[in-house]
Amino acid sequence: MSGAVVLAALLAGSAAAAPPDPLSPLLSRARAAVREQPGMWTGASVARGEHAVVVGAPRRLVTEIARLAGRADRTVTRVWGAHGGAVVLVPRTEEQAALLAAPAVVGGLAAVATGDRVIVQPAAFARLSAIGRQVVVTHELTHVAASGPRAVPMWLLEGFADYVGYLDSGLPVHAVAAELAADLRAGGGAGADADREAGTGAGTGAGAPLARLPEPADFAARPAQAYEEAWLACRYVAARFGERRLVALYRAALREDADTALRNVLGLTTAELTRLWRSSVRAELARP
Ligand SMILES: [Zn+2]
Repeated sequence: MSGAVVLAALLAGSAAAAPPDPLSPLLSRARAAVREQPGMWTGASVARGEHAVVVGAPRRLVTEIARLAGRADRTVTRVWGAHGGAVVLVPRTEEQAALLAAPAVVGGLAAVATGDRVIVQPAAFARLSAIGRQVVVTHELTHVAASGPRAVPMWLLEGFADYVGYLDSGLPVHAVAAELAADLRAGGGAGADADREAGTGAGTGAGAPLARLPEPADFAARPAQAYEEAWLACRYVAARFGERRLVALYRAALREDADTALRNVLGLTTAELTRLWRSSVRAELARP
């Protein structure tokens, strides 16, 4: 990967005599993105990764994100397989990020994926640690790689992106799932009663830790814990059935409803997976 170049070079396209550029489709997509908001990219830079084109400012951040995207791409390709890559847009302000991401909501997130693009929210991204930045970029590139014709359940969508995101991070489970572990230590959490009722969606105290595989309302009400629960669910599937089956489950859920996918790929009902995930998480997070 070379360093960042000025935007004019991207907009000019490659010279007719130049050899075919494997990034051509992504460069076209980047040009289209820039032309949608031409005023936003004055003085912007462009950096190329192997399967990513990063556009934005400042130049140092664009170069850094291209480097993070290169490493992320190796992880995503190893787990998911070949994919079309992503255009990563790095606007200067939170307002610009919100405009680019709409109708997706940026909220407090450091980045969001919409279709084949990743939008970085610069202020939130700047607050992340070096590991956190790598995790976020890998998470978003996973969303882009694994997007498909059908929406998968949110626990699988976000859990899988975090599964790939954290895979090479070296972070221990208690660090990644710190909020959930704290809630469980504080005595919250679905216990034996919830085990009996798992999957019914009734009487399990929605909002309590591990009450159910997290749903959109849980991500809205207690985002940290919901992401951790989703991550632990996908991590559990990979540990118990193998990473390839986790990927097969996700690919199946892009084609058919999630209950059918679970039954066909893992031989489990949602209620059974919920019970297994709950006991595994309780056991793992109970250990110091
Ligand atoms: Zn996500």
